Amino acid sequence: MIIVLLGPPGAGKGTQASLLSRRLGLPHLATGDLLREAIAQGTPLGEEVRPYVESGRLVPDPLMVALVRERLMTPAGSGGAILDGFPRTRDQAVALDQVLAAQGRQVEAAVYLEVPASVLLQRLSARWVCPHCRATYNTVSAAPRLAGVCDRCGASLIQRADDRPEVVQRRLEVYRQETAPLIAYYQTAGRLRSVDGTGPVTVVLERVLAALGRTPVSGQVHGDRYQVSG
Ligand code: AMP
Repeated sequence: MIIVLLGPPGAGKGTQASLLSRRLGLPHLATGDLLREAIAQGTPLGEEVRPYVESGRLVPDPLMVALVRERLMTPAGSGGAILDGFPRTRDQAVALDQVLAAQGRQVEAAVYLEVPASVLLQRLSARWVCPHCRATYNTVSAAPRLAGVCDRCGASLIQRADDRPEVVQRRLEVYRQETAPLIAYYQTAGRLRSVDGTGPVTVVLERVLAALGRTPVSGQVHGDRYQVSG
């Protein structure tokens, strides 16, 4: 089963993808995380994409499509995946459909997390992430128990380079121009599931599961406390 998470930076795609991945037993494929890892490790891919990622521009489509195609071909990816941050352009969406069709598969649903712009800005500016296990926090609404330290693994939290205000503005603009048209793309294909992305993480997860036709198991849903992120 392939599920796409759609929504602007700060809508909560990363958090919901991570929770859904655990709930549905599918790998979480986050293209932003893959790129940041490559940058941190200084690989050739990392050096190539660094200027795009750090300035909030999109990495060219052919590179992104190759990266995702490779992941979907692995044994882990062949059973399905939660796609977080891909596709981000119409060309990527078309390429994804082609890659999947060649394997007799298709996107089952595109979950669109709807969040007002004012909430996005607040979330992004207060966001802290764990570079080790990727847990995400918000200093206003979901602070870690110990300031600056990850609850899950104890690593020191960092702020993303592209969460700086001027870069955030560009990412939101790129989203409006390049990615928002995918809402209509998946709507036309009959695969769009729009979900209110505001409110507590656990409540949003329940809405997402309902939109996917899954009944939430309330005890488990309420155990998760990680903050909504992009
Ligand atoms: P994210 O963590 O999803 O917000 O992605 C962070 C950055 O990685 C984006 O601002 C882009 O520079 C790059 N990126 C991630 N996914 C894609 C994609 N599908 N296409 C192009 N660039 C991407």
